[in-house]
Amino acid sequence: MPDLFIDGEWRGALDERTREIRCPADGSLVGVVDEAGGKDTAEAIAAARRAFDEGPWPRIPAHERGDLLLRVADLLARDKAPLARAESLDTGKRLVESEYDIDDVANCFRYFGRLVASESGRVVDTGRADVDSRVVHEPVGVCGLITPWNYPLLQTAWKVAPALAAGNTFVLKPSELTPHTAIHLVRLLAEAGLPPGAGNLVLGAGPEAGAPLGDHPDVDLVSFTGGLETGRRLMAAAAGTVKKVALELGGKNPNIVFADAGFEAAVDMALTAVFLHSGQVCSAGARLLVEDSLHDRFVDEVVRRAREIRLGGPFDERARTGPLISAAHRAKVEAYVARGVAEGAVLRCGGSRPDRQDLAGGFYYPPTVLDECAAGMSVVQEESFGPVLTVERFTGEEEAVRLANDTIYGLAGAVWTSDEARAARVTERLRLGTVWINDFHPYVPQAEWGGFKQSGFGRELGPAGLAEYRETKHIWRNTRPTPQGWFE
Ligand code: NAD
Repeated sequence: MPDLFIDGEWRGALDERTREIRCPADGSLVGVVDEAGGKDTAEAIAAARRAFDEGPWPRIPAHERGDLLLRVADLLARDKAPLARAESLDTGKRLVESEYDIDDVANCFRYFGRLVASESGRVVDTGRADVDSRVVHEPVGVCGLITPWNYPLLQTAWKVAPALAAGNTFVLKPSELTPHTAIHLVRLLAEAGLPPGAGNLVLGAGPEAGAPLGDHPDVDLVSFTGGLETGRRLMAAAAGTVKKVALELGGKNPNIVFADAGFEAAVDMALTAVFLHSGQVCSAGARLLVEDSLHDRFVDEVVRRAREIRLGGPFDERARTGPLISAAHRAKVEAYVARGVAEGAVLRCGGSRPDRQDLAGGFYYPPTVLDECAAGMSVVQEESFGPVLTVERFTGEEEAVRLANDTIYGLAGAVWTSDEARAARVTERLRLGTVWINDFHPYVPQAEWGGFKQSGFGRELGPAGLAEYRETKHIWRNTRPTPQGWFE
């Protein structure tokens, strides 16, 4: 069956190109999918435009759109097993992590399905008895949705669910490396009754299949999750037609541990913060800032436990984390670690490919700790997006905050302390979209997610995640029009 979905039809690429998808855990062939080019994307945009301008989706009552999202959530729950398996084969991540992801995807659809059904516009008191004034929300139009490979279906759900809830039509361009769950989701949208053209799917490389979503005049909004450089390029492309833009970019997220933190939980979560999914998490706690007096004991324990983390494929039940997504990405992480060492960081563990024979076919890289890092180093400033922890020392709150904020990013981070007042003071001064206190990583669909500074702008999830996909219209009705006589 072909893999591009345009105007309610499954079809192949116009120039009949295809792409092999291989599992990063062992290089095995997962599937061959159709590879769209710019012309396919242009057709998808045209279909989404027609569906927006003439089709039923933007015009049906919001609660009916909400009902469809709830049906999709049920279908996602029904198909959880094959979806999780497909996600693990494409990404190499552990099956249990994919299973959590699919639950979160279903919850995201449920959240936006309920939210949109419960909301209405508002009446404005203008102070005039002869005027009815209301503010209403309308969809933005055709949305270009571009997503990355690390949480393929989850990042897609964060965009597709609110875009549809608000009454938009969309063209989705998932990462070319991990397309299978997006194909499955689009099948479920059709099964749930989404009208033709309202949801379109193109697969393929960013510069060909994705780029038209940034500069095409018929696209009204582009929402992008991915790397900083691609985000900059898209924003520049979108300027030509003044599209609405939302960018969820990278992070260099500080995990700040004060000496009075609960030791066991802080060590445990310092590992989860950075090594979950081999660090391929936008909010990975890749910068450990640890108070000087605690440094030696804390880092020794982190290193000891990091050495024991077992690597393995998605279906290895003893494995705790998996491979990197590609050979190119692993090469990037290796170069990053080498740079850190050259800059003076002390390599405490990891730092070279595992020598286990059973891992030879995959893109594995072990949990790595670079100790004695300092603010100016490139490894402290740049995202590695791999299993690499940099460690910096600090003394006192002032220095902790200064170091934590000292990157171009501002996505997320944590503060560990048993002093509530200190936690509150530090939290207030962190320039981050999410701050965890004595925790790392949890999120809920009810709370907004997004970045300060060059981690992007716009928010996903929460009420603001829906507002992103809405226009606001003020309607002023004069109930007793009479001449004003201004020009008499
Ligand atoms: P990427 O920027 O290489 O690719 C992301 C998407 O953009 C892919 O679908 C890709 O095909 C597409 N793309 C690439 N070039 C394009 C172009 N010229 N025009 C249009 N589309 C284009 O990023 P990636 O390597 O897939 O993902 C990793 C990055 O994503 C990391 O930097 C990570 O921090 C970030 N990320 C951020 C969040 C967040 O919530 N802030 C979440 C996940 C990932």
